[in-house]
Amino acid sequence: MNKTFSVINFGCRATQADGAAVEQSLRGLDLRESSSWRRSDVVVINTCTVTNTADAEARQAIRRVHRENPAAKIVVTGCYAQRSPEEVARIEGVTCVVGNSHKDQLARIAANYLGGPFPILRDGRAMTEGGAGVYCSSIFEIGPLRVIADASAGGRTRPVLKVQDGCSYRCSYCIIPSVRGNSRSLPSGEVVRQVRLLLDQGFREMTLTGIHLGGFGRDATPKESLADLVERLIGEERLERLRLSSIEPLEFGDDLIDLVAESPKLAKHFHVPLQSGSDRLLRLMRRPYLAEYYASLVGKMRRRVPDAAIGADVMTGFPTETDDDHAATVQLLEAAPVTYLHVFPYSRRPGTASADLHPEVNGKVSQHRGRALRELARRKNLDFRKSFLGRELSIITLGREYGRPAEALSTNYLKVQMDTGPTQANRILTARITGLTGEGLRGVPAESSPLQSMGA
Ligand code: SF4
Repeated sequence: MNKTFSVINFGCRATQADGAAVEQSLRGLDLRESSSWRRSDVVVINTCTVTNTADAEARQAIRRVHRENPAAKIVVTGCYAQRSPEEVARIEGVTCVVGNSHKDQLARIAANYLGGPFPILRDGRAMTEGGAGVYCSSIFEIGPLRVIADASAGGRTRPVLKVQDGCSYRCSYCIIPSVRGNSRSLPSGEVVRQVRLLLDQGFREMTLTGIHLGGFGRDATPKESLADLVERLIGEERLERLRLSSIEPLEFGDDLIDLVAESPKLAKHFHVPLQSGSDRLLRLMRRPYLAEYYASLVGKMRRRVPDAAIGADVMTGFPTETDDDHAATVQLLEAAPVTYLHVFPYSRRPGTASADLHPEVNGKVSQHRGRALRELARRKNLDFRKSFLGRELSIITLGREYGRPAEALSTNYLKVQMDTGPTQANRILTARITGLTGEGLRGVPAESSPLQSMGA
């Protein structure tokens, strides 16, 4: 077609993986990726809607692309597009809106706006007043999960493979199930095929992700499990490292923890959302566990994998959160062996169960609590990093940007600035840790097989 495209991604790893698949499918229709959205014929904006801020960022991006590249066809997709297609379609400059329900058709829809002759399997609705097309239907009516396009790395050294979408939980604050639908998984045979395609392209480390990764395989007949899938994947000879993204506390069974502990191919990294250390709030949030369960789970992870990264998501300012609730969260996290936190403020999402909960927490109070948790995380992360000084860690090199030192990522999720050694990306090696940087470590390649190394 000799036309060009760009994809601008927002949001979580799963959304980024969707973006990489959209890029791949656009390439499949003979469009070329442009080095800048300012010169692209079509710009896909792949949105998130998890907070008000995420919506605002998407609107800002749409306006900016339209202002700086008025000739571009702007295709808006992702979770915000699914949640409020008409609202998005009314933004000036939008050519069409493609909800998550129609994401597998996006490349064809976009190419047709450039004169392409591609039949659309599921049609869109009428154009809006402003002329933008809307391709969106109920997310609960779409069929099983399918790959949009074969796996590609989307320019990364460590590709992300989305093996599951949607969520069958109903946390009271969360808009995700209404824009991603119930949990659906790829068949494990298809996951193996995608992993092999990435291995054929020379990738060594990859991350399995999903919206509710721990629910993988429950919708399959016969049922499958994430632990079985992981075991099957680490049997792939060429795969050197597999990383698991976020898994809900009740889904981190001993089988998975044992695999992380025992397989040198699995990254020593657990990410387990907490949200709150107050049982009262966990119930209001409709999270199916208590604080004590969480504390004992991460304690077990630390005992089984002494040097593992353990990360948690924590929310501040959930409606009715008191100082005592916040103190319970701080107390739990002070005692827990977590090494990093994702702290985020509650954002009221219309249509969720918590949207009508009162009293709301004052924004300044929520921010103050967030700062306290981030400070706690900073201290814990510093102690964790210091514990590796003079030791050795298995790393994957991430390459070097012009004028900057080469970077790498350790098996236990620490950024390592490499002062010597290979500058090209995608090499797995052992580094000796020589110092600290502002947020990571400094290292050099280890010369010989170490006694103290982990994960190599
Ligand atoms: S587990 Fe809860 S927070 Fe996570 S996607 Fe599902 S409903 Fe949302």
